Amino acid sequence: MSSEPIRVGIGPRIGSRRMGGPTGVRAQVVSSRQLTPTTHAIELEKPKSFMFRPTQFTFLQLLTAAGVDVRPMSLATSPTRRHLEYAVRLSESFYKRAFAALRPGDEVAVFGPIGDFVLNEKRPAVLIAGGIGVTPLKGMAEYAADRALPIPIRLVYSNGSEDEIVYRDELAALERQNTRFRVIHTLTGTAAPTWQAATGRVDRTLLRQAARNLANPVYYVSGTPRMVVGMWRLLREEGVPEDDIQVEVFRGYSQD
Ligand SMILES: Cc1cc2nc3c(=O)[nH]c(=O)nc-3n(C[C@H](O)[C@H](O)[C@H](O)COP(=O)(O)OP(=O)(O)OC[C@H]3O[C@@H](n4cnc5c(N)ncnc54)[C@H](O)[C@@H]3O)c2cc1C
Repeated sequence: MSSEPIRVGIGPRIGSRRMGGPTGVRAQVVSSRQLTPTTHAIELEKPKSFMFRPTQFTFLQLLTAAGVDVRPMSLATSPTRRHLEYAVRLSESFYKRAFAALRPGDEVAVFGPIGDFVLNEKRPAVLIAGGIGVTPLKGMAEYAADRALPIPIRLVYSNGSEDEIVYRDELAALERQNTRFRVIHTLTGTAAPTWQAATGRVDRTLLRQAARNLANPVYYVSGTPRMVVGMWRLLREEGVPEDDIQVEVFRGYSQD
């Protein structure tokens, strides 16, 4: 795939072609790995001109068995890190099969960055994610750790089972790197007797635990439309002002 010219599927400009929308750049895959039984991550060489804020999204264009295809995709890492990273929940779509098959040296195209789902560096943060929705929140946590931001950050992270916790080791490493960062895990499925954290869906109790002793936090919610809407309602019922809730909706997971 790497030597094939990538056709422009959406937007902008690659080489001399301009088609409107965000600017596109080619990038080489440097690593490709399975994270959990149903998720997969890639890292890309960061193009020199590419700047973004923690953590915007891009359109990620791949060559699939059915031709060139593109999806909006959150960056899963901080601008302070060496590479760009993406992680997806796998499916049978041509796009996801092409994503999982990427190997070092393959070429993709990145259009962006886009969006304003960006960490406020001055206010305490409560990050809330389910499953693969953690991608932009991991980028925010990395940024806060690398920049030694003086703000407390709590991540409330819900997964079905222990083996499906995306970036578990990376999040634990961030807790060690940044004593102001803490992960509050919960499992919605059956938990092993050794599981020491919460069980059940994210509810008021867990949200209050996350926000305890935080002065005027911003809430960042990321995930499927159903999850984001559910959390939004819960936070509003808890009296959180609309302006203090930032959301990233992973449209495309509309059945969830
Ligand atoms: C801002 C943003 C950030 C995202 N970040 C991530 C991420 O980090 N990781 C991740 O796994 N996913 C992310 N997504 C979702 C991603 O773009 C895909 O939609 C999703 O992964 C499903 O892809 P698929 O190939 O499995 O679905 P498919 O099987 O191809 O699609 C299922 C159905 O949804 C429709 N559809 C697919 N994508 C979209 C879309 N974006 N908008 C509207 N309809 C759509 C298809 O036409 C089809 O009908 C993000 C979405 C947005 C909007």
